[in-house]
Amino acid sequence: MYAFTYHRPATARQAAGLLAKKEDAKILAGGHTLLPTMKQRLASPSALIDLGACADLKGIVRKGRNVVIGAMTTHAEVAESAIVQEAIPGLAWLASHIGDPHVRHRGTIGGSVANNDPAADYPAALLALDATIVTNTRKLGAEEFFTGLYETALEEGEIITRISFPIVSKASYAKFRNPASRYALVGVFVAKRGSDVRVAVTGAGESGVFRWPEAEAALKARFAPKSLDGLKATAKGINGDMHADPEYRAHLIGVMAKEAVARATGK
Ligand SMILES: Cc1cc2nc3c(=O)[nH]c(=O)nc-3n(C[C@H](O)[C@H](O)[C@H](O)COP(=O)(O)OP(=O)(O)OC[C@H]3O[C@@H](n4cnc5c(N)ncnc54)[C@H](O)[C@@H]3O)c2cc1C
Repeated sequence: MYAFTYHRPATARQAAGLLAKKEDAKILAGGHTLLPTMKQRLASPSALIDLGACADLKGIVRKGRNVVIGAMTTHAEVAESAIVQEAIPGLAWLASHIGDPHVRHRGTIGGSVANNDPAADYPAALLALDATIVTNTRKLGAEEFFTGLYETALEEGEIITRISFPIVSKASYAKFRNPASRYALVGVFVAKRGSDVRVAVTGAGESGVFRWPEAEAALKARFAPKSLDGLKATAKGINGDMHADPEYRAHLIGVMAKEAVARATGK
C-alpha cells in the first residue's frame, strides 16, 4: 500500500485550484485507465482529484452547428444521446462500440481523450471531425492536441472541460476490434464537411492517431466506397505486435475505411 489523499470537488474551478495546490496530484475521471495503472505501480500520485461530482463537466448540448460534450460524460451517455444520434450518428455508433457495458458506463470522453491510448476510438473521431478540445485555460484543435503515444498537448494542471464537434454532412466509423479487450486493432473515422473530407486512423500508427491523405484525396473526388478501390495504406510507421503485424494492420486500414464510407453513405 502507498498513501494518497482523495478529493471530490464540486466544480471544475475547484478541481483546478486543488490541482495547482497539490504536488503530484492526478485527475480521476472514470478510473478505467488510471486505477489499473496505480495498481500496477506505474503511477503513484500523492493526491487524486475526482471529477465525479463536477456537474459543470457533464452533459451534451447542441450549440448552433456543433455538438458540445462535457468531459465527464460517459461513453454510454454519448451512445444513447438523442442529440448525438441525430446530429452525428457515427459518433454515437463509435461510443456504443467502446469496450463492454461496464467500461461504457464508467469511462468518460475526457478521460479517453486525455489518455490518448493509441488503440482508443475517440481520437479518430476528434481528428476526422476537426473537433475542438476546450480546457480550463484554452481551446485546442484536435490536430495540435494529439502529439504522440499517450501524449497530448495538455499542460500540467490543465483540465479538459468539454469537446466541441462540428456537425458535418456525412460521418461514420468502422472498427476491427481486438476480441479480448475490444480496443481498436484498426479503427477508421471518415467525415465529409462541404467539399472537405477527413479520414483518421486509430489503432495502427506507431505514433498514435493519424490522417490518411491519399484516401482523403480519393474521397474528395467522389465520396463513395468504390473511390477507395485499389488504394493501399503503407505499412511504414504502422504498429506490429502479437495481435497483428504492420502489413495486416495496413490492409485493415483500407478495409475499415471502405466500411466506414459505406456506412456513412448507406451503400
Ligand atoms: C476492459 C477495457 C476495455 C476498454 N475498451 C476500450 C475500447 O474498446 N475503446 C476505447 O476507446 N477505450 C477502451 N477502454 C478505455 C476506456 O474507454 C476508458 O474510458 C479510458 O481508458 C479512460 O477514461 P476514464 O474516464 O476511465 O479516465 P481515467 O482512467 O480516470 O483517467 C485517464 C487519464 O486521463 C486523465 N484525465 C481524466 N479526465 C481528465 C480531464 N477531464 N482532463 C484532463 N485529464 C484527465 C487522468 O488523470 C488519467 O491520467 C477500455 C478500458 C477497459 C478497462
